[in-house]
Amino acid sequence: MEEQTKKIIVATGNEGKMKEIRQILGDENIIFSSLRDENLQDVEIIEDGKTFEENAIIKARKISDITGQMVLADDSGLEVDYLDKAPGIYSARYMGEDTPYSVKNKHIIELLDGVEEEKRSARFVCAMACAFPDGHTITTVGTIEGRIGYEEKGTNGFGYDPIFYVPEFGCTTSELLPEEKNKVSHRGKALVAMYEELKKEKVL
Ligand code: IMP
Repeated sequence: MEEQTKKIIVATGNEGKMKEIRQILGDENIIFSSLRDENLQDVEIIEDGKTFEENAIIKARKISDITGQMVLADDSGLEVDYLDKAPGIYSARYMGEDTPYSVKNKHIIELLDGVEEEKRSARFVCAMACAFPDGHTITTVGTIEGRIGYEEKGTNGFGYDPIFYVPEFGCTTSELLPEEKNKVSHRGKALVAMYEELKKEKVL
């Protein structure tokens, strides 16, 4: 029997995320559509959740309620243990949305000046939410553990990647190739878990 093509709207304006989502959840019966494809890029979403999961649900639910479609959204950030898990859910807004990451990264390194290796632990966290038109929502979470480095290293990736050192690889996530990072990243893991959940929901 021929399967029906389904559409999942991805509540992001980030092309990099769209690409990664297509790579991991890619299925010939699914069309992934971005907010821009849906002409919804200007919808205001107030991310006032207290956790990554809550914020991912807020984004997915809002767009699903507007469109009546299945919507996938994520929320992610960096937790530095020594800084009581800051910048956490405020990672994008930390020190101001428009402040360059070179400045944010140097600031974090300075805040950890003199802090010994074991206390420099940190993780990237990603929560994924898929909101369904009938009102129910499923979520998954992925993390990658690392340490805050002593200087910025690497030119790949984005955001806090140059200061996120992964002992397992002996380098920062900014020194990994994109495909290497995707395999071990918080977002990659949350997406693989979402793939399993969507299979259970008979979406995939
Ligand atoms: P959002 O999930 O798109 O709102 O992004 C959250 C913020 O977390 C980003 O703007 C980055 O500051 C940070 N972040 C999330 N994932 C990564 C990553 O893989 N590398 C570096 N920074 C990240």
